[in-house]
Parts: sequence; structure tokens; C-alpha cells
Amino acid sequence: MYLNHHHGTHLPHIPMDIDPTDVASAWLRRFSSSLTLLDLPQIASCIHEDGFLRDILVFSWSNRTLAGPAKIISYLEAARSAAAAITSVKLDTRMYLSPDFDAGTTTVSSGFTFESAVGSGQGYFSLTPEETTGEWRAMSVFMMLSDIRGHEEGGPEEGVYGEYTIAWGEIIRERRARIERDPYVLIVGAGQTGLNMAARFKQMDIPTLIVEKNAQIGDNWRQRYPTLTLHTVKKFTEMLYQPYPNLATFAAKDKVGQWLHQYAGSDDLVVLTSSYPLPTPTYDAAAKRWTVGINHEGTPVTIHPAHIVLATGIMGAPNGAAFSGHRVIVVGAGSSSADICQDLVVQGAASVTMVQRSSTCVGMAIEVSDFKAEVTPYLLAKRVMSMHEEEAWEAEKETHRGLREAGMKLNMGPDGAGTLGLARERFGGTAFNACFSQVCRWLNASQDSVSHLTSRDEIHLLTFSRARRRLR
Ligand SMILES: Cc1cc2nc3c(=O)[nH]c(=O)nc-3n(C[C@H](O)[C@H](O)[C@H](O)COP(=O)(O)OP(=O)(O)OC[C@H]3O[C@@H](n4cnc5c(N)ncnc54)[C@H](O)[C@@H]3O)c2cc1C
Repeated sequence: MYLNHHHGTHLPHIPMDIDPTDVASAWLRRFSSSLTLLDLPQIASCIHEDGFLRDILVFSWSNRTLAGPAKIISYLEAARSAAAAITSVKLDTRMYLSPDFDAGTTTVSSGFTFESAVGSGQGYFSLTPEETTGEWRAMSVFMMLSDIRGHEEGGPEEGVYGEYTIAWGEIIRERRARIERDPYVLIVGAGQTGLNMAARFKQMDIPTLIVEKNAQIGDNWRQRYPTLTLHTVKKFTEMLYQPYPNLATFAAKDKVGQWLHQYAGSDDLVVLTSSYPLPTPTYDAAAKRWTVGINHEGTPVTIHPAHIVLATGIMGAPNGAAFSGHRVIVVGAGSSSADICQDLVVQGAASVTMVQRSSTCVGMAIEVSDFKAEVTPYLLAKRVMSMHEEEAWEAEKETHRGLREAGMKLNMGPDGAGTLGLARERFGGTAFNACFSQVCRWLNASQDSVSHLTSRDEIHLLTFSRARRRLR
């Protein structure tokens, strides 16, 4: 008997000489023919009772995750013409995406590619054998539209215009004026999200204008607290098409701001700074166009884009008060709090007290590619993460021990699912090792710097004194 890590159940014996490619290709043949024919019982037989379908723009112009064959079938039934148009379904042969067993499990996973009515797509599935029959069924199927036909990514420009009769500068000026006058897409906000989207739309030949309220691209990072560096290693947050220049692994906030500015410039993205939309855009359903007033450097401008994308961020507004010499309380005990406490100590606050109400999940960075991070429905990922809880936290045990000894309350995320679980469910309550290891050193350097306050709300106070600064 084998333990199946997705299910946590015992399975019939799986022969050791089983070929994952055979398993994957037989399943994919069955699944794709059932889609084309809209053979509902066969679609159901391809998916486990508690399996998932995750769809990004393939079966509808939306992102959906469906749990269980019944919901999957009714979703596909409603999208029957899109389902029937799935053709050219092939197993992926690229490294890390070709059929293989997931390490240490009896799960066979594979990528696949396909064509839909509007473009080409990429998918990924994970199969486990049925407990009683041994039949391979999907725990998760992911399908994503990756290119729209007629708007495929164009690659770098050739750089030669009108057979050397037109200068690049002229091309850019003309293009910029045209996009400013009549963009097809308006993006509000020139942070990572807005710039990435604009870069992708440019590749798809979709005229895109960004408006940014700050005077310079990157000011959103420059305006944050002085000692901020990225909490995640830089490779986690690379932008489309342009790798980071020679930045530190945990890049300083001003360097991130500088890079965003440079990124927009080198990709010739069309950004109006000191600009923001005025209330309230109206939509003409017949013309399929918006009318939007823009305040551009104090002057009103009107444009008529087909789409408006809000990329204005999800974090709160920064508060830049001066705290030098003051006794400061920081409410909350996540990554930002750890950073801010450290910054306040460095900036000369008389004392800094971190207020922790509920416990914090201090986790490790996870090395997965964007695609593989997307393919797994969150509920399934959470189930798997919870099952591997013990081994996952082993590497962090020294940091955790230090923080606990210093009086900090910790948790392991919802059902042990770690920082990702909390980030998805609460968008907060998490902290990365990078910022907490220093806090841990400071707190442990003087046990009496930690005071616990027992109250109805179970609030913890973790106090740093100015003397801690010498320990840096
Ligand atoms: C202190 C701190 C540290 C962080 N560290 C990390 C990290 O280490 N790693 C990581 O991956 N993530 C980190 N993050 C999260 C990261 O900053 C965000 O996930 C990311 O910047 C989101 O990018 P965005 O483009 O969606 O939004 P933002 O970066 O917030 O950009 C939004 C842009 O929209 C503009 N804007 C807002 N409203 C308007 C308007 N009405 N009109 C015009 N423009 C407007 C803003 O000026 C801004 O430039 C951190 C966040 C904070 C606050």
C-alpha cells in the first residue's frame, strides 16, 4: 500500500515500472475528447470526486475555480461552444512541464498545450489513481489562455523604420501622441502591476496609456520608510521581458523605484505622470467606449478608451510622521511592523513597542515558478501544505524558537498552510524571515525588554529599547 499525499489515503499497489507519460497521455486523450464532444459522464470520470478545474479565460472571459465534477460539468455545459473548440491538445515536452511523478508521491503531473477558438493556451494537470479501481483521475486541471490570435507577443522591435528613412525618435513621438490621444486601454497606476500590463499590451499591439498620480514613476517606493528593502528575494518579483539589472538580492526601496522608472523608459511605455482620472467615467455601451476625464498636471484632458484597468495597489497610504525622540507604539506584528520597528530604532525613537494581538506566521520563501504557483487551486494547495506542515517548518525552527523565547506569539497559517495561506485568506498576518531575523536578535539580546500584558484581548507587547541599536 502507498500513501497518496494529495488524498492522505491508502491506495492500491502501483507497479514501479509505470510510465508517467503513458498515464498522462491516456488521461489527456480521454479528457480532450470528452471536451470536444461535451461528453459529460466522461468529463466526470476524468475528475476525482474532490478534484478541481481552474480556468483562466479559456471557457469564459473570467477566472474561475470549480470544485468537484458536478460544478465542473455545469460550468462546461454553459460554455459548450468554447469547450468544443478546444483542439490540438498535446502533452508539454519542456523541462519541468513534461509528465512525471511528483517527488515522493504516486501523483502524475504534466503540462499540456492546446488551441481554443480565440488563441493558444497552456494547461497543467495532476492525476492520482482511484482508491478502489486504480483508474487515474485528476485532482486538479488548470487551463489558461496564453495568447490571443492576431495579438501574439511580437518580440523586440526590429529598430529599422521606413528602410532607414525614419528615425526612431520620430516613431516614438508619433506613437506616443497617438496613444495619448486615443488609447484602447487606460491603466491607472504605474506600479509593478500597471507597468507589467502595459508592457504585455504593447507586445500585443494594444495601444495603452498609463496615468500615474505621482510626479515620477517609482515615487510610490521612494516615499516609503528609509530602511525598507524588499522582503522577498528579487527573482520572485522580476518584471516582464526585462530581468533586473545588477540589484542586491533584497533590493533597497529607492533602487526598486529607480528600476520601475528605468523599466518604463526602456520599454517606451506611454505614462502620463502627475495625472489621475477625474470622477466619474461614463460608459457608452453602443460605442463600447468609456469617456474619462484626466487631470494631467492640473489640466483636464478627455479620452475614450475601450477598457480601464485599475492598478492602484492594495496597500494603505504611507504615513511619514517624524518619531525621533518619541516613545512609539507600532500596532501589528507582520513584515511591515518588523521593518517599521527597526526603522524607528535606527531613526532615534526613544522606545519602540510592537503590539501583537493575534499570532504571526513567520515563513520561508517558496521556490516555485509563477506558472506552477498559478496551476494549483488554492483550496488544494492549502490541503497539501497542511499535510507537509511538519517538514516545511523544520528549516525555520531556529528563527521560530528565538521569536517564541522572546515572547512573540506565532502561528503556522490557516490549518498549517503557512504564509501563503494567510496571504491569500487575510492579506496580512505574515512575515518573512528576512525582516524577522534581526528583530529576533534584538529581542533576545535582552530578555527584560519583553513585557507581556495579559488582557482580555490577549495583546502582547514586545519592546525594543534604543540600546538595541548598538547591536546592529
Ligand atoms: C512596506 C512594503 C514592503 C513590501 N515588500 C514587498 C516585497 O519585498 N516583495 C513583494 O513581492 N512585495 C512587497 N510589497 C508589496 C508590493 O509593494 C506590492 O504587492 C506591489 O507594489 C503591488 O504593485 P501594484 O502595481 O499593484 O501597486 P502599487 O505598487 O501600490 O502601485 C500603485 C500605483 O498606482 C498609483 N495610484 C494610486 N491611485 C491612483 C490614482 N487615483 N490615479 C493615478 N495613480 C494612482 C500609485 O501612486 C502607485 O504608483 C511590499 C509592500 C509594502 C507596503
